[in-house]
Amino acid sequence: MQPLRVYSVVPRLPKQLNELWDLAYNFLFVWNNDIASIFSSIDQTLWRDCQQNPVSFLNHLPQQQLEELANDDFFVQRLKEAVKVQKGYLSREGCSYKFEGAKKGDSVVAYFSFEYGIGLSLPIYSGGLGILAGDHLKSASDLNIPLVGIGLCYQHGYFRQYMTQDGWQQERYPSHDFEEMPIKPAKDEAGEDVIFALDMKGEELKVKIWYVQVGRVTLYLLDTNISDNPAHFRAITARLYGGDLEMRLWQEILLGIGGVKALAALGLEPSVIHMNEGHSAFAGLERIRVFMTEQGLSFEAAMEMVASSSIFTTHTPVPAGNDRFPADLMRPYFEPYAQTMGLAYKVFLALGREEPRNDSEQFCMTVLALKLSRFNNGVSILHGHVSRNMWKKVWPQYPVEDVPIGAITNGVHMPTWVATDFSLLFDRYLGPNWREDPDCTRVWRQTDNIPDAELWRTHERLRERLVDFVRKRLRKQLLNIGARRKEIELADEVLDPRALTIGFARRFATYKRAGLLLRDKERLIRLLADTKHPVQFIFAGKAHPQDNEGKKLIQDLIQLCRREECRMSMVFIEDYDMKIANYMVQGCDIWLNTPRRPLEACGTSGMKAMANGVLQFSTPDGWWDEAYLTDNSLGWAIGRREDYNDHEYQDFVESQTLYRVLENDIIPEFYDRGHGSLPRSWIAKVKKALRILGPEFNANRMVEDYTEKAYLPAFSNYKTMSQNGFQGAKDLAAWRMDLMTKWSSLKVRNIVSEAHTDMYVEEPIIISAEVYLNGLTTGDVQVEIYAGPVGQDGGFVSRKTVVMNAEEDLGSGWHLYQGEVLPGEAGRFGYTVRILPKHELLLDPHSLGLIYWAQ
Ligand SMILES: *Cc1c(COP(=O)(O)O)cnc(C)c1O
Repeated sequence: MQPLRVYSVVPRLPKQLNELWDLAYNFLFVWNNDIASIFSSIDQTLWRDCQQNPVSFLNHLPQQQLEELANDDFFVQRLKEAVKVQKGYLSREGCSYKFEGAKKGDSVVAYFSFEYGIGLSLPIYSGGLGILAGDHLKSASDLNIPLVGIGLCYQHGYFRQYMTQDGWQQERYPSHDFEEMPIKPAKDEAGEDVIFALDMKGEELKVKIWYVQVGRVTLYLLDTNISDNPAHFRAITARLYGGDLEMRLWQEILLGIGGVKALAALGLEPSVIHMNEGHSAFAGLERIRVFMTEQGLSFEAAMEMVASSSIFTTHTPVPAGNDRFPADLMRPYFEPYAQTMGLAYKVFLALGREEPRNDSEQFCMTVLALKLSRFNNGVSILHGHVSRNMWKKVWPQYPVEDVPIGAITNGVHMPTWVATDFSLLFDRYLGPNWREDPDCTRVWRQTDNIPDAELWRTHERLRERLVDFVRKRLRKQLLNIGARRKEIELADEVLDPRALTIGFARRFATYKRAGLLLRDKERLIRLLADTKHPVQFIFAGKAHPQDNEGKKLIQDLIQLCRREECRMSMVFIEDYDMKIANYMVQGCDIWLNTPRRPLEACGTSGMKAMANGVLQFSTPDGWWDEAYLTDNSLGWAIGRREDYNDHEYQDFVESQTLYRVLENDIIPEFYDRGHGSLPRSWIAKVKKALRILGPEFNANRMVEDYTEKAYLPAFSNYKTMSQNGFQGAKDLAAWRMDLMTKWSSLKVRNIVSEAHTDMYVEEPIIISAEVYLNGLTTGDVQVEIYAGPVGQDGGFVSRKTVVMNAEEDLGSGWHLYQGEVLPGEAGRFGYTVRILPKHELLLDPHSLGLIYWAQ
């Protein structure tokens, strides 16, 4: 029997407490302790049991307790102050960046992501990608960037992990009650839910929109689980990364195409979109379609509009991790769609292919995103390099270093991840600026002012808290598998709150090599057995439900943790999430990471640890490659960036290094105690890491980089190109078409260098060339010398480019160009000449994929 109507019944808050709802419906409480403590101080246990979900928390508070609080003057006063803090934050005006021409309150950038990790009580994330997206929104809020988020509202989120008795991962998918979460349905002016429709293979899909306040930023979440939809469509927003390939296609159509439609349904008109990973690349297509149908633009002009105002961030250095769909699967969805844009299906498919004419190639979302955006980036310097290599086929004829994929290194949102105790320390010695302005080096220079003893005491308290947390969790885990009472009682004794504590928490993907530490179990057990210098390990992490190899790794690990010799000093905590991450990155001494270089795109958990004074011990990969390059005394590395072809051998060598560095460097340094039992040199390392890495690896710096390098130029492109009935877009498209027809007839001849018999280092060589432009002007192109040392194989080892000047019009389309280069070092040196397109609206001359090399 189904009820005829359903109501949500909410508790009646006494008038004095009504503003608790305002605090509850804004995730600012996640990074503002004045607000969070209002809830936790009412009832710590209930707050914990509600997963720090303030809405559920208020719904569960007994009416009598609410009455008592309303009569508690002290509490009412504190509430007033917290409300003032929130209002103050939300009403703050001004942004260091001028989005010239944007109306006040308008959103300029729409950020698309498949997952978001904002707080424990909104479980729509699986790992790093989601956490990063959450941190991006939080820093955008702190910086007052006019940005909105778009994502999906998953009924079951990602799976929750628990273990069988023999350590095999099981998954469960609890259902979320959105009415009990800090989210609200978006309403139109008439007060009705905003619902819009989407075409799915000729069927109508209805979509409801929820919104979440993340400080000043609004995140919109799409939900298909509504009664207007048939069951198969209702399941689209059931699970994050669940279902088969067609389900993934549905979800990506929903996020990309649906996301753009949702913005329109909400009356929002962002000029710029940022695709966080390829999942949302259909958004670019939908924007093209809208420009064509609503503005009457040609496909080419619409494409210029979209590409010039889109940003794409790739995250996946593993080819298999990039979504690809077979052409036949996509046909019923996209053949009619392509027709509305006047595209043959084959031409459409070429947009997602590395080799446009290769019919056997699947449609790749990353390729689509790369082609629909003129600002592409990886998430660390090393990953930028890896990505240029991975996608160089999309830009044929390009030397890999010119492939237009740059790098903006990820960062973490400091106020979210720094422990309250540590943040008080920062407040006291760095000043409150570290929250607002964490990328200021001056702020972090003050780290040296923190007294050693105070820093260490704070850290030790956090380690104690971690140990206490692990014991409680372990007890619960043992209860769940029906362990014997004696075993359960032992849980209260595991770990030593004063021992060197090493944390390893991440997805159990194969490339993360959780097994590296376990390769020589006896050597590991010898470390654990040292009673004078005890070492202990805490592990957490999920394997993908279909990844049996990952599950096997977890099982191995759990079985080792249960061995007599290990059980007191090695613990696996089930169901890794933001809460466990919080305890671990705050309370460990060492953050261990062992990815197979260069497969960790960036890694952010280590940055969270760094911000809490935890030192790194990691393969130089992702962000740590970058950080360790700055200064190798900030932590420890496993290996020296060697490349291996034999993975088995690599694992052997690197596991040996891992044990050796632990035994010879890390453990002795941790236990090198001076007066007052302080590890002085360890503390010095902690401070130095904070001072040097703090201002760099935080999300404010990251969002500022995106704003300066991508959002502002893309916004300016949008404005310029949309003026006067999109004249700029039409002109740019026409210019590009003209260029493409004339490009193949360009010529370069008579390349001469002022010949010296002897050339000397740092002595200029003047080079001239005659260039045939086939009707193009010298303003349309950039002619460059491409020069550098030449290696054994006759190719360039490295190169520099120098722009040549047009010196003389030689008539009949020929122009004389000239420039000079300086050989930087002795040895074989070579050069060549090339032509690139040039236009003031092209951020990067390489983005059109046109290049002409002198023959
Ligand atoms: C930070 C975080 C991650 C990402 O960590 P990596 O270092 O990128 O593996 C994953 N899961 C949770 C819960 C996190 O907090």
